Amino acid sequence: MRMKHALIPTLREVPGEAKVDSHRLMLKAGLARQLAAGVYTLLPLGLKALRNVQSIIREEMDAIGAQEMLMPALHPAELWQQSGRWEQYGPELMRLTDRNGSSFALGATHEEVVTSLIANEIKSYRKLPVTVYQLQTKFRDERRPRFGVLRSREFVMKDAYSFDTTWEGLDETYARMYDAYTAIFNRCGLTFRAVEADPGTIGGTDTHEFMALCAIGEDTIVSCTSCGYAANIEKAEVSPSKSIAVSTSGAVPKLLEKMHTPDVRTIEQLTRFFDCSADRIVKAVAYRVDDRVVLALVRGDYAINELKLKHALKGSDAAMLEEDEIAEAFGCKPGFIGPFGVPGVTVVADRSIRGIRDGAAGANEQDFHWTGLDAERDLPGVPFFDLRNMTESDPCPKCGEPVRFTEGIEVGHVFKLGTKYSDALNAACLTEQGSLAPIIMGCYGIGVTRTVAAIIEQHHDEHGIIWPLEAAPYFIHLICVSMNDEVQRETAEALYASLRAKGCEVLYDDRDERPGVKFKDADLLGMPVRITVGKKAAEGAVECSTRAERVHTDVPLQELDAYLS
Ligand code: ATP
Ligand code: MG
Ligand code: MG
Ligand code: MG
Repeated sequence: MRMKHALIPTLREVPGEAKVDSHRLMLKAGLARQLAAGVYTLLPLGLKALRNVQSIIREEMDAIGAQEMLMPALHPAELWQQSGRWEQYGPELMRLTDRNGSSFALGATHEEVVTSLIANEIKSYRKLPVTVYQLQTKFRDERRPRFGVLRSREFVMKDAYSFDTTWEGLDETYARMYDAYTAIFNRCGLTFRAVEADPGTIGGTDTHEFMALCAIGEDTIVSCTSCGYAANIEKAEVSPSKSIAVSTSGAVPKLLEKMHTPDVRTIEQLTRFFDCSADRIVKAVAYRVDDRVVLALVRGDYAINELKLKHALKGSDAAMLEEDEIAEAFGCKPGFIGPFGVPGVTVVADRSIRGIRDGAAGANEQDFHWTGLDAERDLPGVPFFDLRNMTESDPCPKCGEPVRFTEGIEVGHVFKLGTKYSDALNAACLTEQGSLAPIIMGCYGIGVTRTVAAIIEQHHDEHGIIWPLEAAPYFIHLICVSMNDEVQRETAEALYASLRAKGCEVLYDDRDERPGVKFKDADLLGMPVRITVGKKAAEGAVECSTRAERVHTDVPLQELDAYLS
């Protein structure tokens, strides 16, 4: 691709709303542009990276015998009503009505559609097992789309669905899929971890999430180096007596981000108390008000509630505490501050938690009331623990050794669904014995657009993106330093032609730009290998470097093939 006429609109300044590196870099390097909140156009370079990830996925899915197809994005409401998810899925499911008044959903996921298809097409065990997949656009009206394509409202997902006659069959399919996911994320160059997960509203039994390890990840992983146990904190069976401690480090914002209430028992009690669903109680924020340490339970989204809390506490002498101040107040080591502390600590609750409404993020500030509650009086039976005895971290629920907390981005998710959807949508087939039995299902998702962003999140430096080989939109970034210099131009043109003839993906900077601009852009765009045709072209040499190491070497043209291989 010649850059002169390419649509690669790189930016010097990035809009302030881009809070994470991958989002910033996708805008800056001209990979994507926002159309509306959580809705993005992928520009040519972004699309090329997406296609590369899709190719990896296709190869690994085909290798385990999964078959690609394409289902519609428009789903009749009846299907979702049949499974019960028309109500259950809530406002995240985008809905619309056609000219005849019939209701539809924009596909957020495809269990209903695929199950109804298989129910019609497969009647006998002889046709099973079958696994199908698609690469398709999904729609989810996320409460708060953010971080660019990491959490958007329209995104590309690979979703696969397996149909088996026996539970053992499902176990085997699931294991193959798990291995294929491992291969896919390895090829994408991601550092990741498969962790036990919570099935949530989709239903089912075993489920694992594939987490790209990243400080900005919205999920927290509990992992044990001794026995290998790893789980999403939402699922982790952390023992009640220690569950209040959340490992934290660094400054207060970091601390606030990390405060979870992982104790299921406590969360249940709190949900009863606040009359809200469990997922609304996720974080706790510590403040000092009038010389007391105050813990504020907040729901849902941290940033919004943080604002609300500040607003509510305005006029009092509330001040956010430094981590060591909280530690001092609790009499524990910094780094082990839990949402519920010792008795006597006041809990400030966001009253609008009561009778929760959907779209909490949009609730206006007047809705916010706060009240001081006496922990022992108002939360009877909630165990309070002496944080003074906390050690370096909790006991692993499996082996008792210390566990660690890490952040991750959920790039993939595999589920054993069982018969939830086949029961609801009557997908049954004749067994070998001649009886009718529900088909046993699994489903397997990969956020393809999110994976591209996760790759960038893990592979960049202060100069720009550093594409791993298989995801890179182009393998070589060819720079002609001066297009006005005949030797340089002719050498570069000849190289461009010969590399392309060999099947090499080349991005050719043939613009009349200053060398500095070209070098900066090459670093920003991040292709694995850079070939610079400059003054040495007259002596039959070019300069080569890899984006990761940024070490430049002069290579005689006749040795270029050897260098590249
Ligand atoms: P999350 O917990 O991040 O909301 P999820 O558990 O709701 O994700 P799944 O239903 O498991 O998502 O969907 C399969 C995959 O689709 C996820 O593992 C993730 O990689 C991707 N995905 C889900 N929601 C989004 C989104 N809003 N934007 C981009 N990718 C997404
Ligand atoms: Mg979700
Ligand atoms: Mg999830
Ligand atoms: Mg998931």
